[in-house]
Amino acid sequence: MGSDVILKLENVYKHFGGVKAVNGVDFEVSSNKITGLIGPNGAGKSTVFNLITGFSEIDEGFIYFLDEDISYASPQKTVDIGIVRTFQIPGELKTMSVLDNLLVSPRHHPGESLLFGWLNRSKAKNFEKKTLELAKKNLEIVGLTHLMNEKSENLSTGQKKLLELGRILMMNPKLILLDEPAAGINPTLIKNLSKVILDINKKQKIDFLIIEHNMEFIMSISDEIIVMAEGETLVKGSPKEIQKNQKVLNSYLGYSQND
Ligand code: ADP
Ligand code: MG
Repeated sequence: MGSDVILKLENVYKHFGGVKAVNGVDFEVSSNKITGLIGPNGAGKSTVFNLITGFSEIDEGFIYFLDEDISYASPQKTVDIGIVRTFQIPGELKTMSVLDNLLVSPRHHPGESLLFGWLNRSKAKNFEKKTLELAKKNLEIVGLTHLMNEKSENLSTGQKKLLELGRILMMNPKLILLDEPAAGINPTLIKNLSKVILDINKKQKIDFLIIEHNMEFIMSISDEIIVMAEGETLVKGSPKEIQKNQKVLNSYLGYSQND
C-alpha cells in the first residue's frame, strides 16, 4: 500500500440475502485529503461505512487501514487505530452541557481505574486538566465555545453536528467518516460546517471520508470523489473530472436532475 494511502478496500462484498449491497468494491482513500463518496440511494455507501468500522462483517475481500488488515476488525479496534465515525448524541447526554459532552468522550481515562486513581491522584488530576484543555481547544475548532455551558438538547441541528464533530475530535482520530453531514441543515450552517471540516483537515491533519447527497457541498470541499452505483465503484477523480464524466452523468447526476 502506497505511503499516501490511508484506507484501501479490495474487492469487498456484502450481500443481504438477494440484495447485492456491496458487490466488489475497490477504492483507495489518500492521506492528507478530504474524499467524497457519492452515488444514488441504495448504492451501498452506508454499508461500506459499516464494513470499514466493523459494525457489519464483510462476506469477501480485504480492508486495509495504513498497513494493517482490518477486514474483520471489531468496532472498538477500528476506533482504537483511529477510524472514527459520528453518531447522534446519545439520549443521556442531551441534558448535559456542550462542554461536558466532550469531557465524557475521551477513552482510557486513568481515573477510571480505581487502583490507578488511588495511587496516582496527581496524575489523574493532571489528566483531567489536560482533558479539559483539549475539550476547550476542540470546542474552539468546531466553533462552539460560546455555547460551552448550553445544554446540548438546546442546540440547532447544525450545531449538534458540530458537537458530534467535537466529540470525535476527543478520540484522537486519523480518519473521520461522516454519513450525510449536510442533511437537514440550513445553507449558512452548511457553509460553516464546510469551513470547520476544511480547518480540521488542514490544521489537525485528520483525513475525511464523507458520504453526501448535497453536490454543491461535497464538490466544494472534496479533493477526490469516489462514485458508487449498485454496489460497485464506478469511478474516482477530482470534483471537476467527476462533474464531466459521462458514466457519472448517466448513472447519477443525470438521475438527480430528473428527480
Ligand atoms: P446507500 O447508503 O448508498 O443509500 P445502503 O448501503 O444503505 O445504500 O444500502 C444498499 C442496499 O443494501 C440497499 O438496497 C439496502 O436496502 C440494502 N441493505 C442495507 N443494509 C441492509 C440490511 N441490514 N439488511 C438488508 N438489506 C440491507
Ligand atoms: Mg446511506
